[in-house]
Amino acid sequence: MFATLSDRLADTFKNLRGKGRLSDADIDATAREIRIALLEADVALPVVKEFVAAVKDRARGEEVSGALNPAQQIIKIVNEELVEILGGETRRLRYAKTGPTVIMLAGLQGAGKTTLAAKLALWLKEQGKQPLLVACDLQRPNAVKQLQVNGERAGVPVFAPEPGNGVGDPVGVARASIEEATRRLHDVVIVDTAGRLGVDAELMQQAADIRDAVRPDEVLFVVDAMIGQDAVGTAQAFLDGVGFDGVVLTKLDGDARGGAALSIRSVTGRPVMFASNGEKLTDFDVFHPDRMAGRILD
Ligand code: GDP
Repeated sequence: MFATLSDRLADTFKNLRGKGRLSDADIDATAREIRIALLEADVALPVVKEFVAAVKDRARGEEVSGALNPAQQIIKIVNEELVEILGGETRRLRYAKTGPTVIMLAGLQGAGKTTLAAKLALWLKEQGKQPLLVACDLQRPNAVKQLQVNGERAGVPVFAPEPGNGVGDPVGVARASIEEATRRLHDVVIVDTAGRLGVDAELMQQAADIRDAVRPDEVLFVVDAMIGQDAVGTAQAFLDGVGFDGVVLTKLDGDARGGAALSIRSVTGRPVMFASNGEKLTDFDVFHPDRMAGRILD
């Protein structure tokens, strides 16, 4: 990811090399190129506009620092602005003060939710937690089985519907899972919910009902970075329909241009908290805006 954007920006900065001082014309030309690079990377237009305006303002107003040449100075500004639009500080999970912490996952089918649930569970286990995975995706025929297989791989138990705890009733399963977690002293509950191929009212209502039943500490919106600009529209629909606290970007290992990663925070106001970059359970980490910006400018 970001390969084209990285190359584009590198070319832009190359043009500034050797310049003693940047004229307004130099700054305008650079800003134009950054704008094109971001648009090509599929970053949402309002985000591009804001980004370019901020870079331009700062480049004009910046004190000339003795230590940095003009090209380095622009790179520094772009880096800081990238960190900013990616969310600034890393946003950590908030744990419940009493009882199990409930994390609910929402997103479209194929976003990578079920895989992510197991990745997150493994990661939490490695932090010394005792998570419980909960299969509330009763829509996709294979989803429960898939979660059970992944749960086994992660060494994390899975609470799934069976006679007595709500076959065919995701809200009932979700509710029962909290009781089970409390009884068995699990400190984190990860609730996987159903996704559809497109946003639809029934899906939103079901997710909202599960949310009301389990009152999650964190609702995480899981989104495939490969869907580019569509990620922003989908995020907005989930924000309106279910609401969420943070975002998990998946498939960062693909050749997406990076637009979703760069837009989603600004558009939704919600931070990217985790990133998933492969099919293995360990292909997962906390999202660090500064490292991501560093990768883009590498
Ligand atoms: P769900 O429908 O949202 O539960 O999505 P799944 O967890 O079933 O994932 C859909 C497909 O994407 C599966 O084939 C996963 O193996 C794959 N997948 C999930 N996360 C990643 C990732 O970060 N990178 C890659 N390359 N594939 C992923």
